[in-house]
Amino acid sequence: MSFTIDLHSHSNISDGLLTPAELVEHAAMHKVDVLALTDHDDTSGLPIAEIEAKRWNMQLIKGVEISVTWKKRTLHIIGLKIDPEYPPLKNGLAIIRKGRHVRAAGMAAGLDKIGITGSLAGAYEYAKEGIISRTHFARFLMDSGIAKDNKAVFKNYLVKGKPGYFEHEWASLEEAVSWIVGSGGVAVIAHPGRYDLGRTNMLLLLEEFRALGGTGIEVVTGSHTVDQYVEFAKYAQLFSLKASLGSDYHGKGISFMEMGRLPSLPSTCTPVWQDWPEVHALQAKSI
Ligand code: AMP
Ligand code: MN
Ligand code: MN
Ligand code: MN
Repeated sequence: MSFTIDLHSHSNISDGLLTPAELVEHAAMHKVDVLALTDHDDTSGLPIAEIEAKRWNMQLIKGVEISVTWKKRTLHIIGLKIDPEYPPLKNGLAIIRKGRHVRAAGMAAGLDKIGITGSLAGAYEYAKEGIISRTHFARFLMDSGIAKDNKAVFKNYLVKGKPGYFEHEWASLEEAVSWIVGSGGVAVIAHPGRYDLGRTNMLLLLEEFRALGGTGIEVVTGSHTVDQYVEFAKYAQLFSLKASLGSDYHGKGISFMEMGRLPSLPSTCTPVWQDWPEVHALQAKSI
């Protein structure tokens, strides 16, 4: 069995650098056979990505990465194999996107206070018709020479306690899971190792997520260390959750990981794609 799967990626519909079509081409160049496009809170890149994927003989999984507030923390919940036309999902994402505009104004006001002006218009220049995110502020701050790289911008300006951070209430965990599952999709906790929850809260989160109808957690992702692959494979097993794998690719210079470079899931994991017919077809071909 040899095929490459990547179930987490971003186009410029959210905070990636490539258009959906370019992203699919990039995945093809990196020998990805199954790709999920999972833009933050927006599914409008999916139709073009799907057309493009056919051209490259690639399987496109319709995805989304939903911003959630749980116990005053921001979590990301990935929906895979979603129906983007499912009204509760469509309406819920529209409300989140509206909230992003309010939050962006708050972020810009914070930056104004320390003498960094013009960031709202600057960030929107990068966002174009897609969602507005911290990554767009980061690009504005970098290109105006205020910070040297993406990592430094986030650390000094855009995380909790820094001038460009603005507290925001996203969707609830229950809403996000119900929109995804209600649309016929599979809900997966994105990069659980990035939340710094501590063991007690991690156990609570996984319990609650599963009770709400969540199916999987990312085990192998561009934002986990090798030790975290092992750690989250154990959590998956403990809660009978399936495991997902994705690069979280955003584009050159702002990515956690290039596409097609991740190792396979640990052998104890049940892949989230275990019962997906489109993956079975590939497996059959490659035997
Ligand atoms: P937002 O949803 O607007 O809060 O933006 C979150 C996005 O910012 C994430 O999806 C990442 O792409 C990026 N991001 C968050 N934290 C960092 C970080 N420490 N370094 C680089 N990029 C980050
Ligand atoms: Mn992002
Ligand atoms: Mn994320
Ligand atoms: Mn992501």
